[in-house]
Amino acid sequence: MLGCYVDRARLEGEADDLKVQEDDAKEGTVQVGTPKEGTPKEGAPKKGTPTKLQRPSYKFDNPGDGERSIVKVGTASFGDGGFYTISGPCAVENPTQLDLAARDAHEAGAVVLRGGVFKPRTSPYSFQGLGWEGLRLLREAGDRYGLPIVTEVMAPEQVGRVAEKADMLQIGARSMQNFDLLREVGRTDRPVMLKRGLMASIDELLMAAEYIMSQGNFQVILCERGIRTFETATRSTLDLSAVPVLRERTHLPVIVDPSHAAGRHNLVAPLARGARAVGADGIMVEIHPDPANALCDGPQALSGEALAALIRELA
Ligand code: PEP
Ligand code: MN
Repeated sequence: MLGCYVDRARLEGEADDLKVQEDDAKEGTVQVGTPKEGTPKEGAPKKGTPTKLQRPSYKFDNPGDGERSIVKVGTASFGDGGFYTISGPCAVENPTQLDLAARDAHEAGAVVLRGGVFKPRTSPYSFQGLGWEGLRLLREAGDRYGLPIVTEVMAPEQVGRVAEKADMLQIGARSMQNFDLLREVGRTDRPVMLKRGLMASIDELLMAAEYIMSQGNFQVILCERGIRTFETATRSTLDLSAVPVLRERTHLPVIVDPSHAAGRHNLVAPLARGARAVGADGIMVEIHPDPANALCDGPQALSGEALAALIRELA
């Protein structure tokens, strides 16, 4: 089954690219079609002999023995068969907003506190996040409520300093193929939550995970957060099929972000139920104490009570 990947991509005209990946990956690359004695070029198969390159093996590969990687973040062990919720505001806005959100996340039963301090916004004039001051607030709020924190890193230069304070690093959808950034988080000892790019295939998501793992950091959690399609009724189209496909292809834990996929708070619970039903290891859900006045992603934010009801239901 796995060999099909190379063959299909070759048909799609990506053969050169993949050949490079195969050369890079080295391990497991096997040329089928052993040259016969007297063949003019050593290693080259006889003219007309069908040659097939098998797919190389990757660090993300599911070994097929049922063993799944467990990524620990505080009390959560993503991948152990439990269902864990990460929650918090889209962005850290000010101490009061964050404190209320952190309290709500904690009381609802979320096990990791999220909060963006470096925000990848479509417009350069939108709120860009509080930066380092926001990270300090997030750390303090996490400590106050006994929650580990996750926040997005946007640039390789930020990684070391964020990793000193954050329990988990988030790679946002827009950065999924920032290969320097992926390598940099791969050099830390922090778990990494890797979000699928808006236009990224499952293969590309897995290769992004490979970039991180290639640097020695195997603590990667994959996050399906919706992809861009022709559909405009929702902010993105949640690709729930990605969950079982990823669980088939990799040993890494897989979570779902119904908030960014939906873009609307009333769709978050049904999509979260779907995520649980298809085998996700958890969800990431945005909340806000005052969604109408949120500086970022207010329409998709749940109230603390709605989050609590959702977690109760999915537990
Ligand atoms: C986020 O989680 O804050 C975020 C920006 O999400 P995404 O990268 O999936 O758009
Ligand atoms: Mn958001």
